[in-house]
Amino acid sequence: MKPIAILGGTFDPVHNGHLRVAWEAAEALDAEVRLMPAHVPPHRPAPVASAAQRVDMLRSALVGQSRLTLDTRELDRAGASYTVDTLRGMRVEVGDERSLILLVGADAFGGLPTWREWHALFDLAHIAMLTRPGRTEPWPAELVAEAGPRRVRVASELRESACGKVLSLPVTPLDISASAVRALLADGREPRWLIPDALLADVEILRIYRRQ
Ligand code: ATP
Repeated sequence: MKPIAILGGTFDPVHNGHLRVAWEAAEALDAEVRLMPAHVPPHRPAPVASAAQRVDMLRSALVGQSRLTLDTRELDRAGASYTVDTLRGMRVEVGDERSLILLVGADAFGGLPTWREWHALFDLAHIAMLTRPGRTEPWPAELVAEAGPRRVRVASELRESACGKVLSLPVTPLDISASAVRALLADGREPRWLIPDALLADVEILRIYRRQ
């Protein structure tokens, strides 16, 4: 059984930076990668596109391949979800043996100690830290203590157990952000090659982000 890796995000809209990183993780980890759109947490600005629109865009972006899939479980629940609860739900579904891998940007990884029940995450999944363009902050001491001893060097080690390891996964740096894509669309410009062609071809999608 292949590991299941999870890439959570707002996907407002999904762009080639997300897709490329998910694809590279799928290949490097020999995993099924699930793109998991989230309700937006209260501390972030509300997405421009609705949850249904973000899901539609992800569906169009994923057509024609099977390594990356869509998992809407967080949107199917009301309110924002904590990662620990999502992973608990997945663990019940897949059983205790299957490798689950949470993909986390290197910047977000440093903030892990602020996540709810963060120590429990390691009992539920492995974490693959994706290197992304930009600065990497040093880890806080409590993260060094928890994650340091869990570090492994090769991806195959994440297949040998179900949870508990930390891997640093270098990915091709594509300096694309959803905010930059939204800004281009708001100006009536075409973010060609930054988002999948299928999204550009859909006038309804372009209208979501065009400045009113
Ligand atoms: P925004 O610009 O609206 O903040 P974003 O482009 O960062 O959005 P998110 O949906 O917040 O997109 O990101 C989801 C996940 O994808 C996060 O883990 C984030 O670190 C990662 N990610 C986003 N863009 C890239 C990129 N260009 N390269 C690698 N990882 C990325």
